[in-house]
Amino acid sequence: MSKRIAILGSTGSIGCSTLDVVEHLGPPYRVAALSAHRQIDKLLDQVRRHRPPVVAVTDESSAQKIARPLRDLGIELLTGPDAMVELAQQADVDIVLAAVVGAAGLPAAMAAVAAGKTLALANKESLVCAGSLLIPLARKNGVPILPVDSEHSAVFQAMQCGRGHEVKRVILTASGGPFRTATLDQIRNASLADALNHPTWKMGGKITIDSATMFNKALELIEACWLFDLPPEKIEIVIHPESIVHSMVEFVDGSVIAQLSPPDMKTPIQYALTYPHRLPGSSPKLDLTKPCQFRFEPPDLDRFPAIRLAYDVARKGGTAGAVLNAANESAVSAFTSGKIAFGTISHMVELALNQHNVKHNPSLDDLLAADRWARTTVQNLIQTHEAAVV
Ligand code: NDP
Ligand code: MG
Repeated sequence: MSKRIAILGSTGSIGCSTLDVVEHLGPPYRVAALSAHRQIDKLLDQVRRHRPPVVAVTDESSAQKIARPLRDLGIELLTGPDAMVELAQQADVDIVLAAVVGAAGLPAAMAAVAAGKTLALANKESLVCAGSLLIPLARKNGVPILPVDSEHSAVFQAMQCGRGHEVKRVILTASGGPFRTATLDQIRNASLADALNHPTWKMGGKITIDSATMFNKALELIEACWLFDLPPEKIEIVIHPESIVHSMVEFVDGSVIAQLSPPDMKTPIQYALTYPHRLPGSSPKLDLTKPCQFRFEPPDLDRFPAIRLAYDVARKGGTAGAVLNAANESAVSAFTSGKIAFGTISHMVELALNQHNVKHNPSLDDLLAADRWARTTVQNLIQTHEAAVV
């Protein structure tokens, strides 16, 4: 069966790991298309190595820089706001691996599903924002959405041990991030360097900050509700600092099925590409003959309010997910550019959620409007906050 893969966000952490996996797997797996935003040199290296027939560059000035070398290689270049959408719909693509960061990946994820492509989804923000549209569209078109996120891949694999109505609950594990044992005061004023210093995973900047605030787990809770059609009450979050047990499913008979592997995204990426089959993997294997310890502890909702906010948002539904996600994206970018303290990120998200009137059964326009509203609201809040601080 043909396995032509379009990688959206190929220059990022997941994108690069996906290219390694495709290279490791070999034919019939091959790269059919790549997309990048600004990292042109990296993209050009990838293009020379994998020779996809088509490439999308979403940042206009970066696109100008790569136009000539691509022309010389005989590779088509798509640019402009709809470039990724066009890429996701290409006729000679079977699987779209969505690894763009943020809600910027939503239109292309929707386009892939609308065009009947299998969607291997790393871009959790698109589900958090628009799961209410993406999931029904995938069902209607008979399109599989295969999770790349390690926890959801683990749940997806464990789910195969029973039937949907036999699931008692899902247990999502979280590393706890760099501030797992930090005090509230230390968390409030944590530096960017400390927040980027993740103990177990090496990832892109935004998700690393999300892991430090635990908004990553907040997004993942909502992602799991959509992917597995579960209410938030059936999903529990547990801190597991070793990041070996990637998540678990408890069935009605009391059996708990877990998926274990060393923390390496190549394992879930490969499973999403080869599903329903398993092929030899390239990552280091689990070695339980060496002394090791698996710890599990409950999350602290006072130090990590993101978890509490996520349960609230998952219960509310409608436009609440879009607001949580966009407010978080906006606050993270304010933190990384030095405008707000680390502890202010979750405060900003909570304020935006409190000011938002949730709209139920939203259209795509409603969700995009809620996303824009949340970003503006956070920016305004930050300006007032800066004024207050000065
Ligand atoms: P990175 O920041 O490493 O990569 C992001 C990718 O998206 C890059 O290719 C970047 O292009 C591209 N991009 C950024 N902004 C835009 C934009 N506005 N329009 C189009 N493309 C854009 O992120 P990660 O790989 O870490 O994460 C990607 C997604 O996967 C996120 O949703 C994350 O939550 C999820 N995920 C990541 C995991 C990980 O281990 N990294 C684990 C589980 C999920 P360029 O670099 O060329 O500018
Ligand atoms: Mg994850």
